[in-house]
Amino acid sequence: MRVLVLNSGSSSIKFQLYRMPEEVVEVRGMVERIGEPDASLRVRAEGVDERLKRLVPDHAAGLHHVLEALARLGVPLDTLGAVGHRVVHGGEDFAHTVLIDEAVEAAVERNSALAPLHNPPNLLGIRVAREVLPGVPQVAVFDTAFHQTMPEAAWRYALPEALYTEHGVRRYGFHGTSHRYVTERAAAMLGLAVDQVNLITCHLGNGASVAAVRGGRSVDTTMGLTPLEGLVMGTRSGDLDPAIPLFLQSTLGMSAAQVDKLLNKESGLLGLSGLSNDARAVEEAAAAGHERARLALEVQAYRLRKVIGAYTAVLGQVHAVVFTAGIGENSDVARAMAMEGLQPMGYWLDEAKNAGLRGREADIAHLDSLSRILVIPTDEELVIARDTYELAAG
Ligand code: ADP
Repeated sequence: MRVLVLNSGSSSIKFQLYRMPEEVVEVRGMVERIGEPDASLRVRAEGVDERLKRLVPDHAAGLHHVLEALARLGVPLDTLGAVGHRVVHGGEDFAHTVLIDEAVEAAVERNSALAPLHNPPNLLGIRVAREVLPGVPQVAVFDTAFHQTMPEAAWRYALPEALYTEHGVRRYGFHGTSHRYVTERAAAMLGLAVDQVNLITCHLGNGASVAAVRGGRSVDTTMGLTPLEGLVMGTRSGDLDPAIPLFLQSTLGMSAAQVDKLLNKESGLLGLSGLSNDARAVEEAAAAGHERARLALEVQAYRLRKVIGAYTAVLGQVHAVVFTAGIGENSDVARAMAMEGLQPMGYWLDEAKNAGLRGREADIAHLDSLSRILVIPTDEELVIARDTYELAAG
């Protein structure tokens, strides 16, 4: 069976075509700048890498171009067994991957209030795929689902109850598909059953979050109602005194939209360094003596280290700390800075194993470290393909 994995954003559709259950990616690519004059289609397959200018007024046209490209590459549409969609916010409605029906679509729509930038394009992708591929099972995989196992003490904000009961203001967490993938891989690397493994999983990309995983289930995570909470990220501030947004509005006269932009788009590594949101660029500048770049990395690492300490307290026993996503998989500097000084807590990074390690699975802990320290490249699309195949194949 072939499974098409779709990640529909506001102006893009990323896609992967999997042959399942062999887990082979046959084609991958992306429709970019939907609705703009310079829209394009990128398609990669064995021996193929093309970027084509296309007229893409909307998502429906985008998906048509994807299917046309697949047909051109010799993939008949009738071999498409299922479509798997990434959906950002499932709220409290979804703790697992589900087959999409009208009730699921309605719930995704309801949860749009919690993710106004993400859920509407995800839903649009679902509706367009249903129209273009009638009769093909559609599956939704939620970024929030893995964290639905958090205990209430971890997901409640200390706010008046009605904000939760009437408006859903609570911590949800994101990157769940990635935390789940590395949890399963880590268990395999450690030779433990998934339901026996305790982990601190650090997803460090442009967006970043840590999860505390007990017995293979998420019991805490650093992102909250939105992906703004928690770690210092590329352009997001992460945790700060909740009075700061009030200060920005009442004292500096900023609007709610300006505050939102400042905290989500102009802060984090970019705001601190004044240079870039890109960790690699900031690392290079820091190595060349740029003082603010050095400070940005230090703040980022310090905050991550504090979370590792906090989640060690949450879990008691930790089998491994796991690093994943762009920074976690590739930056030996970020890993070393985060783990610095944690030896008394049982985390002893082996400098030689860490140095230069990029993009492959490895244990970078010293042999005498009490807990393992693992690097695991994440693969959210594979999780979506597997879940989709499982549900579609019954
Ligand atoms: P996204 O959240 O956009 O999916 P990624 O997981 O791709 O992000 O991570 C992007 C981040 O990873 C960027 O900050 C990038 O600089 C960083 N990164 C990628 N390769 C390296 C590297 N070799 N060294 C340091 N940082 C890296």
